[in-house]
Amino acid sequence: MSKRDTSSLASLSPFELKDELIKLAGSTSNRLMLNAGRGNPNFLATVPRHGFWQLGLFAMTESERSFSYLSPGVGGFPRRAGIEERFDLFARHYRDVPGVHFLAGAVSYVRDQLGLDGGDFLYEMCEGILACNYPVPDRMLRLSEKIVKQYIRREMIGKHPFTGDFDLYAVEGGTAAMTYLFNSMRVNHLLKAGDTIALGMPIFTPYIEIPELAEYHLTELSIDADPAAGWQYPKQELDKLRNPKVKAFFLVNPSNPPSVRVSDESLEYLAEIVKERPDLIILTDDVYGTFADNFVSLFAMCPHNTILVYSYSKYFGATGWRLGVIATHKSNLLDAKIADLPKDERHGLNQRYASITTKPEKLLFIDRVVADSRTVALNHTAGLSTPQQVQMVLFSLFSLMDTAETYKQTMKQLIRSRKAALYRGMGTPPAPVDANVVDYYTLLDVEQMSREVGPDFVAWLLDSIEPHELLFRLAEEAGVVLLPGGGFGTRHPSGRVSLANLNEEDYVKIGRSVRKLRDEYLERYRAAGKEGKAKKK
Ligand SMILES: *Cc1c(COP(=O)(O)O)cnc(C)c1O
Repeated sequence: MSKRDTSSLASLSPFELKDELIKLAGSTSNRLMLNAGRGNPNFLATVPRHGFWQLGLFAMTESERSFSYLSPGVGGFPRRAGIEERFDLFARHYRDVPGVHFLAGAVSYVRDQLGLDGGDFLYEMCEGILACNYPVPDRMLRLSEKIVKQYIRREMIGKHPFTGDFDLYAVEGGTAAMTYLFNSMRVNHLLKAGDTIALGMPIFTPYIEIPELAEYHLTELSIDADPAAGWQYPKQELDKLRNPKVKAFFLVNPSNPPSVRVSDESLEYLAEIVKERPDLIILTDDVYGTFADNFVSLFAMCPHNTILVYSYSKYFGATGWRLGVIATHKSNLLDAKIADLPKDERHGLNQRYASITTKPEKLLFIDRVVADSRTVALNHTAGLSTPQQVQMVLFSLFSLMDTAETYKQTMKQLIRSRKAALYRGMGTPPAPVDANVVDYYTLLDVEQMSREVGPDFVAWLLDSIEPHELLFRLAEEAGVVLLPGGGFGTRHPSGRVSLANLNEEDYVKIGRSVRKLRDEYLERYRAAGKEGKAKKK
């Protein structure tokens, strides 16, 4: 068995290392590669997409009511007057076309359930889908924000008591949310070089890598989830947040890669800590929250302290659309901290934002994020493209109108049956049912894979293998690509299996390959045992 030198790859992010694994896995031409490294789902929500295309056709007829006498190919803005009546005619005429029934239902929902004006809504949607105006307001279109807020309220807050209101900034996915937020927190002196931030580990790797960049230079403190406790954060780990040196706490909930949501008990415990640490900034990335039942975000628990990031990418199978939101409560710690900055820093910031408002000191943090996203000077052309906002609204309405949660249950069943297939292939009974497990990903760690054999084998294996050895062998010998868990901050060698992007029978095959590899090490271990277990390698 040849030893591979993987030391030169040690600094690569798991996502880059994956490309190396793909090269290996694809090197044998007559074999199918099973790439379970990607978080990109292979399913997608069709109804709100049908709705999008039909809305587009309706909007075209609206546009062509103006100027088309000049020349075919010229249109104008939609007209507000009579738009609802014209839409009703359209919806009746095309009622059997996929998406039209949904659209008509969406207009009724907006009117009857949300109490908004149907005509205003149709006008905003038509103007948005025609993309004939800059996004105004730049943070988010007016009715679009109200509708998406309902969606966020239902999915992230649920029945949890929540007082007051919050603002949304529509962004190009969770990716843009993170980039914008890190930048604006730095520019607004909320995070300074040398500051300590706590990361709920393991975590989506950019949260580890961004703070380490030279322009941030933040010190990271791990809040380690315990694999033996179903990947929950032990109290003594959360207690690290009591240290006033810790400026911010960043977490992904449900987590990536373990795909487990923070337990109710831990949420309560965190809320208690925040009472003691009212100055603690929290950023929670809840892009997987919609895959959980009755999800409650830390944003619901600690709205004053928490910035919420949500993305439509995973749940709606919409990674190419680039859709996400940032939410902050209307009364929040960030604005309070900015108001409390030393005079010279406040003065500098007032100058920075003077071109966009006459009262820069009153500019909300979330509006600063919008301005900073376009280097302040281009604030007037900031904002998410309007067709993107339209699709975001249609995804949100689709979910709000699905009171039986058919889509959610289908998504959950899909990923759970894939996990069961993986374990079937491995010949290992799946972990006991845990209501906090979401299963978008599953982490196979050496300990877990070898539990039935016993702790001595685990210790021997950890001692005998090189980092990434198992992943490289899986790629090379079985064409199976997993992402290394280590880059996400897991403590043991592990592989992240995405349950989102392959079909059930593929997961059985992946399970079998993992088992085959494990059995081979087991054989070596037993052979070594004959010569004495103390002897290593
Ligand atoms: C996939 C993912 C994102 C990226 O989302 P986009 O909206 O596609 O940019 C953000 N955060 C986490 C934790 C993710 O897993």
